[in-house]
Amino acid sequence: MRYFTFYNVLIAFTEKEDSNQRNLDNIKKTVEKLRIKNVLIPNQKHTNIVLKVDDYKNQECDGLYTDKKESAVGVLTADCIPVVLFNDDEIAVIHAGWRGLFGGVIENGFSMFKNKKVKAFIGPSIRGCCYEVDKQFVNDLNIDEKFYKIYDSKAYLDLVKIAKSKLETLKVEEIFDVGQCTKCSGKYFSYRNGDFESRILTLGMIKETKWD
Ligand SMILES: [Zn+2]
Repeated sequence: MRYFTFYNVLIAFTEKEDSNQRNLDNIKKTVEKLRIKNVLIPNQKHTNIVLKVDDYKNQECDGLYTDKKESAVGVLTADCIPVVLFNDDEIAVIHAGWRGLFGGVIENGFSMFKNKKVKAFIGPSIRGCCYEVDKQFVNDLNIDEKFYKIYDSKAYLDLVKIAKSKLETLKVEEIFDVGQCTKCSGKYFSYRNGDFESRILTLGMIKETKWD
């Protein structure tokens, strides 16, 4: 597991060695290691919906937002992009696969922030090196050429580049990208590598006081 602190904000993500985070016992171990109480993870379905923690009653959604202190929110991924939006008082953790990304899940999460001075964190996800799609796919979705490369008649799509371009359009102050590919790094679960059931967890939390 790796974790980062930005003033009073904690962001953490698990690795393969932390085991499958779809398993409640493993989530428990993760939160214990981080010395936090719990983490709320949504019922993810590749939607573009982000909900406030208070409104979340197990509906399908792909991100949770909160302005409560000590209230960790997270998403499970295995190639899709975990995106954390945050400032000192608000945080949203979002699951962005291509459907969510093109559906506006990042914009929907950002729209919930009262203070628009927001920073973004991008966790481990499949990158342009490994995300092979049919040429027809990029044509059908009308994806700009700067977001993919062609090798051996296959298109390699860079979803993180698309996410960053969206974040820049939203005038996010800073983007922290861990720069890790889930498929070729070997350190994370990857759906494209055959990890169909296992997931990594990315979580974020606003601390009551500065993290130390
Ligand atoms: Zn890769």
